Amino acid sequence: MTITRRGFTAFSAAMAASFYAPKVIGQTKPKVVVIGGGAGGATAARYIAKDSKGAIDVTLIEPTRNYYTCFFSNLYLGGFRDFESIGHSYGKLASDYGINVIHDWATGVDRDAKTVSLASGTTVPYDRLVIAPGIDFKYETVPGYSIEAQNRMPHSWKAGSQTQLLKAQVDAMPEGGTFVMVAPPNPFRCPPGPYERVSMIAHVLKQKNPTAKIVILDPKEKFSKQGLFMEGWEKYYPGMIEWLPASMTEGVTRVDPATMEIETPLDTFKADAANVIPGQKAGHIAEAAGLTDDSGFCPIVPATMQSQKDENIHVLGDATIAGDMPKSGFSANSQAKVAAMAVRAGLTDSKLFPARFANTCWSLIETDDGVKVGAKYEATDEKIAKTDGFISQTGEDAALRKQTYEESVGWYDGITKDIFG
Ligand code: FAD
Repeated sequence: MTITRRGFTAFSAAMAASFYAPKVIGQTKPKVVVIGGGAGGATAARYIAKDSKGAIDVTLIEPTRNYYTCFFSNLYLGGFRDFESIGHSYGKLASDYGINVIHDWATGVDRDAKTVSLASGTTVPYDRLVIAPGIDFKYETVPGYSIEAQNRMPHSWKAGSQTQLLKAQVDAMPEGGTFVMVAPPNPFRCPPGPYERVSMIAHVLKQKNPTAKIVILDPKEKFSKQGLFMEGWEKYYPGMIEWLPASMTEGVTRVDPATMEIETPLDTFKADAANVIPGQKAGHIAEAAGLTDDSGFCPIVPATMQSQKDENIHVLGDATIAGDMPKSGFSANSQAKVAAMAVRAGLTDSKLFPARFANTCWSLIETDDGVKVGAKYEATDEKIAKTDGFISQTGEDAALRKQTYEESVGWYDGITKDIFG
């Protein structure tokens, strides 16, 4: 059954429990399949398995055996973390929570038959499906960029070998060389992420290559925590970083990975190392399952994270249109708990409580100088709506900034345990 967008957005949290299909208690165990073992999917799988206490069969489909978090990958680039510290395996989800972890790609979803097909040729049936595939790229937003180009001009916007490649390229820059970042257009994962990355690369260059320059070619006119980053760049890295919004350059018209040139109507920039982050859309499997709209992302029902296009599918994290929530690991983890509760309410006798969401995005500007922005959210009929928020202030004292950084380290340890067990 497919539900129209209008019909489904009008649907309230109170109505949600009665809307679900008849419960299958006493019959064979209901089956939940989760596609994507990142911040959203692994959390959902763990919470459904943990809180249903064996009443639901949970299968997690994720191609990689080690998931490297994008969160704190910038700190790896800055030399504050080693690479292993941002890697996580799925062993505990299998051994401690009884989740059937399948390392494979989901290649298709048959929404009528309620099955997921895998690259290996297997078909996995579900009663409820959770999809959390993260993002894929809109390469056409940067003319000349492609999947082949990412080896010369890494995006490093999915963590792993791309992150290591970018670090190697920054380390190999000649003395006084130029690092160019092509920043992404909205909406994209981790709004402060590009600017934290620039801070971390500046931190490395300041020590190893102090005459090097950083140029940011930005399609946007403003960015997250801009005042805080600008203040920090002036304080720690004076004269090193140049931020050029599209109103100054008229935008990037072509990148050439062979010559490492990046063209704009203003000038052609020759990069010694380049980080090109294209526009983004929901991970391909969400589109293949017919869950995206014209924006390239997936409309959801805020109270339950169900797809507006299919009541048997919940979509989480960066792949969704999540109202006021930014695309972040914290958001994906928070949305996963709402979805897990809704899945259990739909398949067993557990209760559905009103959805509550939270997010904080931390960024490190220089050693012990951390800043944050965050908010709480609730589900309205229209969207996930912000209820209150906070942001670090310019001019804060060093002790508070150090405390904010330490808070972020504690958060990383806590959230990765919450995701992977
Ligand atoms: P992901 O975590 O990307 O997980 C998606 C998973 O789905 C992947 O493991 C992928 O392999 C799998 N997958 C995709 N397609 C398929 C398929 N067809 N079949 C099976 N599996 C599939 N967030 C924060 O909260 N705090 C931060 O400090 C922060 N810093 C960041 C810094 C950077 C540089 C970047 C790039 C991001 C940062 N983020 C941060 C954002 C955060 O990483 C993402 O928002 C978060 O990972 C989204 O979770 P997700 O589950 O939607 O997607």
